[in-house]
Amino acid sequence: MRHFLGSINLPERLEANPLDMTVQQSEVRTVVMYPWPPRIVWCLRILRHRVHNSVAIKVKSETVISVNRRINIVGQGGRVVSLHKSVPSAYYRQSILFTLMSNKNHTMKNRTQFGRTSVLLAIAFMITRLGFGADLRIATFETDATPPVGSPLAYNPMVRAAAPLTCRGIVLVGNDLPVVLCAVDWIGIANEGYEAWRRGLAEAAGTVPERVSVHTLHQHDAPICDFSADALLTENGLGGALFDSVFARQTIHRAAESLRESMRHLQTVTHVGTGEAKVDKVASNRRILGPDGKVAHVRWTATKDPAIRAEPEGVIDPYVKLISFWGENGPLGILSYYATHPQSYYLTGVANPDFPGMARNIRQHTTEVTQIHFNGAGGNIGAGKWNDGSPENRAALAYRLAEGMKTAWAQTTKQAVTAENFGWSVERIAFPARDTLNAQKLEAILSDRAAPVPERKEAARSLVWLRRCQRGETLDLTCLAIGAVRIVNLPGEPVVEYQLAAQRFRRDLFVAVGGYTDYAPGYICLKEHYAQNGYEDSTGASLVAPEVEDALMPAIRKVLNARR
Ligand SMILES: [Zn+2]
Repeated sequence: MRHFLGSINLPERLEANPLDMTVQQSEVRTVVMYPWPPRIVWCLRILRHRVHNSVAIKVKSETVISVNRRINIVGQGGRVVSLHKSVPSAYYRQSILFTLMSNKNHTMKNRTQFGRTSVLLAIAFMITRLGFGADLRIATFETDATPPVGSPLAYNPMVRAAAPLTCRGIVLVGNDLPVVLCAVDWIGIANEGYEAWRRGLAEAAGTVPERVSVHTLHQHDAPICDFSADALLTENGLGGALFDSVFARQTIHRAAESLRESMRHLQTVTHVGTGEAKVDKVASNRRILGPDGKVAHVRWTATKDPAIRAEPEGVIDPYVKLISFWGENGPLGILSYYATHPQSYYLTGVANPDFPGMARNIRQHTTEVTQIHFNGAGGNIGAGKWNDGSPENRAALAYRLAEGMKTAWAQTTKQAVTAENFGWSVERIAFPARDTLNAQKLEAILSDRAAPVPERKEAARSLVWLRRCQRGETLDLTCLAIGAVRIVNLPGEPVVEYQLAAQRFRRDLFVAVGGYTDYAPGYICLKEHYAQNGYEDSTGASLVAPEVEDALMPAIRKVLNARR
């Protein structure tokens, strides 16, 4: 058996047949695929390889990635033999390095002989960073995420939907494995729920879960998703009390299917656009400090007391940021980012995407471009200064946020991009568990059938998180880079100071922050907040220790400074 390391790149047209390596279905072999950096994650199979057509690679027996490339062969001495140098670079999409194994003792001098090799196995590995000026391509996907009537929303059973909840996302394909960003109109997706979402979308996109970032907009008359907590609750007679897990899994499946379908229609991105604008009278800080430096009032989203509404808006990020992707014929998709709790009023049992979702829908209707909205680091931010909870305020807040989006859109400036300007960084963070979390106490509450159900549900969620921390599990902090744009994706409900810090770290770049990836840690405050006796820093709301800032801030700086 002889091994060659090489990469497949197929030319658009090839009249001669210097490398006739047709691989028939009968020759499908399971091989091991390595991502970059090398770590075994997948089995892949070469299904078909026709010189005039493409290579199809089957991953985990489901995902098919089409690869259209030329063929480079690296001989045993490491010498690269490029077979088709005159192929137009626009044709290059992805490159796959692999090892060819032949049962004959071929040499690279006789390509034709090599080409007739009947046994071809692809071992090793992965989309390379060779680039060749490849295009960056995008597809958008969307699916319904409205739960069934009667199923549990975060606080009440679902009575009806005022408007559909949706799951929307983009997939970006460059020189490396695809990247997926997705935002769901739910209150939170946590623990195994989060991993299941990531796995489902990763499989559909032909990528790895760490290149998928799933967010929620955190609407409150909307469901949660946490399969880990549901498993614990099921053991204690409360299966299905937290959320409808069948519906949640169906939604993941539907989202994956719409993503898979969208990848048939990838379009080339020639430019990325950025625009931002101040939003008038929406965000305000929820923590009103007294003269002693402690939180004197929590300015909840619906604040009835005019004196508390009259307090200054406090630390916020007033800007809505838009990042758009452009092709030859115009815009292909818009991402918007704004940091605030989204609820104008809730506890109604009427599912709805609330004012940020409404603003997004208004804009999408106007621009006719798919818009995916992300909640920023809005943990300590709400509309309380501008909202007494009257139902009519929901539309007013939506309108004001939509106006900000409109201005940001009008101010969009574009820069040319290719796949070489596109990258993804991951920092794995071990979060410190709150020292007030006690496994024995939580287990006692969980198993106490006389205890109130909401307390038992909270105990299950806290227990899952505590056990994860004790096992040393990490959460991903990720960052997408495209040209001068960076999008930092944070877990939990981070306070806005993390978003402002990220922007401070790289004033030379356009930095957007999306919060609410894995919902498990709850609120993530600054260290100083934990001494202020507020809501976000309370033991029930924040499941992480004050030292979380020491872990998170340097990681944010690191992903923003990562070389692509
Ligand atoms: Zn919240």
